[in-house]
Amino acid sequence: MPQTVIADLRSDTVTTPTPEMRAAMASAAVGDDVYGEDPTVNELQAEVARLTGHEAGLFMPSGSMTNQVAIAVHTRRGEEVVCAEGSHIYEWELGMMAAFSGVVPRFVPAPLGVPAPEDVRLAVRHSIHQSPTGLISLENTHNKAGGTIIPTEVIKEIRAVADAEGLPLHLDGARVFNAAAALDVPLSEITRHFHTVSVCLSKGLGAPVGSVLVGSAEAMKQAHRYRKMLGGGMRQAGILAAAALVALRGGPARLKEDHRRTRELAEALVGAGFDVNLAAVQTNIIYATLPGAATQVARWAERGVLASALGPDSVRFVLHHQTGDEALERAIAVLTA
Ligand SMILES: *Cc1c(COP(=O)(O)O)cnc(C)c1O
Repeated sequence: MPQTVIADLRSDTVTTPTPEMRAAMASAAVGDDVYGEDPTVNELQAEVARLTGHEAGLFMPSGSMTNQVAIAVHTRRGEEVVCAEGSHIYEWELGMMAAFSGVVPRFVPAPLGVPAPEDVRLAVRHSIHQSPTGLISLENTHNKAGGTIIPTEVIKEIRAVADAEGLPLHLDGARVFNAAAALDVPLSEITRHFHTVSVCLSKGLGAPVGSVLVGSAEAMKQAHRYRKMLGGGMRQAGILAAAALVALRGGPARLKEDHRRTRELAEALVGAGFDVNLAAVQTNIIYATLPGAATQVARWAERGVLASALGPDSVRFVLHHQTGDEALERAIAVLTA
């Protein structure tokens, strides 16, 4: 890493806790959360459940764990999970749906991260000659497609498919706060259409650690067991939940600024001749197609701008609240030089 970082645009996970978060951590009331006795964890879980329109919540160390616990709750061994191509639950969770739950993904096409409800319906199987479908899972915003939003009408149609097929519907909502901010709707307008939702507090909202799974009280009871199996029983986790509560209360209002800056960066890149699909730039992520991605990323890093090379010709930039306007101007100067 260079000595002075102008802007770290590798991910929205790179933010560091604010002084307000650290103060809240220092004074947090705590208890043993494996016994359900940590008041700060309980407060966080209740608040996320209320915001998402669900009955109960369960705090976990990561979004991968909340997703994989949800898959374990909903499925049985040998089943399929119908999901959008490129979904994080398969692409970036290290085969865990197979390793832990014994299930396999069935991808459906998803231009700009949005699967067609009819394609979801066609992917569902009940025949005794094929592995049956156990779960339908969506991702909003869709990371690999560029932080793209699923229109809420499409979500409702896919929920109707799930209901007609008698299947549960999960949302990987690691960045669902970004979708709500971009659509200017309350979070629950999106999240209430799902049986379970996983939200990350440590992405755009800026908490140092943590995700929450929400759903029915019965589903969270089962989830509690799977969380323990995965080593996710964290004892006095109120220390972390305290920072997450600060992120939850202050973070969502800042996301529109991240989106505005993302748009500005995307347009500057296009202006400088970069190959960026502006239609996919809907929230806080930009993908650029760039031959020699790794070499280019290393060159920018020497000049203080960090990005991710996610393939031989793919570069990703992610904005977050610790890249302000001034840093962005300087980053644009480096990237477009
Ligand atoms: C980051 C992310 C997750 C969870 O990642 P962790 O690093 O395990 O917290 C899940 N889904 C999506 C779409 C993500 O971007």
